[in-house]
Amino acid sequence: MDFAFSHEELAFAAEARRWLEKTLPKSWRKNHLWTRADDPLWVQIARDWQRLLYEGGWAAISWPRELGGRGATVVERWLFEEELDRAGAPRPIASSGAVDLIGTAILRYGTEGQKQRFLKPLLSGKELWCQGFSEPDAGSDLASLRTRAERDGEAFIVNGQKVWTSHADIADWCFLLCRTELDQPRHRGLSLLLVDMRAPGVSVRPLRQMTGESEFCEVFFSDVRVAADLLVGTPGRGWEIAMGILAHERGPVWTFTFQRKIRRSLAHALDVAGKRALCKERITRQQLAQSWIEVKLLELMGYRSLTKLKKTGQPGPESSIEKVLGSETDQRLQETTVRLLGPLALGAVAGWEGTWQRIAHDYLYARSETIMGGTSEIQRNLIAQRILGLPRS
Ligand SMILES: Cc1cc2nc3c(=O)[nH]c(=O)nc-3n(C[C@H](O)[C@H](O)[C@H](O)COP(=O)(O)OP(=O)(O)OC[C@H]3O[C@@H](n4cnc5c(N)ncnc54)[C@H](O)[C@@H]3O)c2cc1C
Repeated sequence: MDFAFSHEELAFAAEARRWLEKTLPKSWRKNHLWTRADDPLWVQIARDWQRLLYEGGWAAISWPRELGGRGATVVERWLFEEELDRAGAPRPIASSGAVDLIGTAILRYGTEGQKQRFLKPLLSGKELWCQGFSEPDAGSDLASLRTRAERDGEAFIVNGQKVWTSHADIADWCFLLCRTELDQPRHRGLSLLLVDMRAPGVSVRPLRQMTGESEFCEVFFSDVRVAADLLVGTPGRGWEIAMGILAHERGPVWTFTFQRKIRRSLAHALDVAGKRALCKERITRQQLAQSWIEVKLLELMGYRSLTKLKKTGQPGPESSIEKVLGSETDQRLQETTVRLLGPLALGAVAGWEGTWQRIAHDYLYARSETIMGGTSEIQRNLIAQRILGLPRS
């Protein structure tokens, strides 16, 4: 197995590094894994940075050149993410990876009019998006969702409720999975609608999390009128589009974000162990060594997924392995770090500035990682069926 990058790939990474050095303002280099949505300054910085990426042709590098991309391979994409990380660049805001999720869906299934209307403001950060899939009684069993859109002349009338909608409070648009064909079997009656978050009848209620932030929200739709030409793809075939979006969310988006997150968690744990002179304790050394092995394992899994993606163009069911391994490794690492802090952990208030606040924040936030984008139990079910070939339970 050869892990070396080609000359072309390394030249691509060097070009990206030069551009970042020249373009990224020093004061924006915070190395956040995602942008703080509760701080208007950082939301503005993330928007401005997205615009600079777009103007430089770096906002969607895997897309074709005529659509504002660079036709980059998945390996080049990986190298670019590494360069962004090295430079401490701000991360995308609202439904992180919206370009990969709804952008890719519009590219593949959207009409010419939808591409013209939505892709540029998405790539340039002018419009932020949220993902309206989960409902109070439809999370793991997404096909049981009840939000409905009924045809009324040239429009749909939407009624229903979504929940856990990340950054709905600052989003301009929502890609909404809803039921349009009421007489069809549950997987066949769904469609993807693009809904203006400022349309009359849309109301958003942020939910406070244990980190103190309100990343996600409840969203209520009450007789919301949506033009019929804002339906993506064929009416009633939204399930296929939604599954493509989720495959991207668990696949490359997850891999890119989590490799960085876990490397940083390990660095924090090593830092705390060093500062507290705990690195000489046998148990601590073994736990840190075990975490290092798991981080390496994930890195290798990431390379394997990227290779597969390069060959097939689609994330495979193996992305479920990374999802489980990444989220559970991170939770163990966070627990080790907090245990290393000992009684000092009790005084650490979750926040974004300062190492200890970040440790408290990341420890609490990590609890959500085995839930978001599909729970660990669901991923294990998928691995059992699709990789091991076991029958459905
Ligand atoms: C940080 C975060 C951000 C999120 N952002 C968004 C977003 O932007 N947009 C959006 O639409 N959603 C979002 N979600 C929602 C997320 O997709 C759901 O929480 C997830 O799919 C689980 O659904 P649920 O919460 O309804 O749990 P449920 O489906 O009710 O599951 C409850 C428990 O039962 C278990 N379970 C359920 N079915 C089975 C089964 N068949 N076999 C074994 N165990 C099972 C689950 O594993 C879980 O432990 C977000 C979630 C989090 C944590």
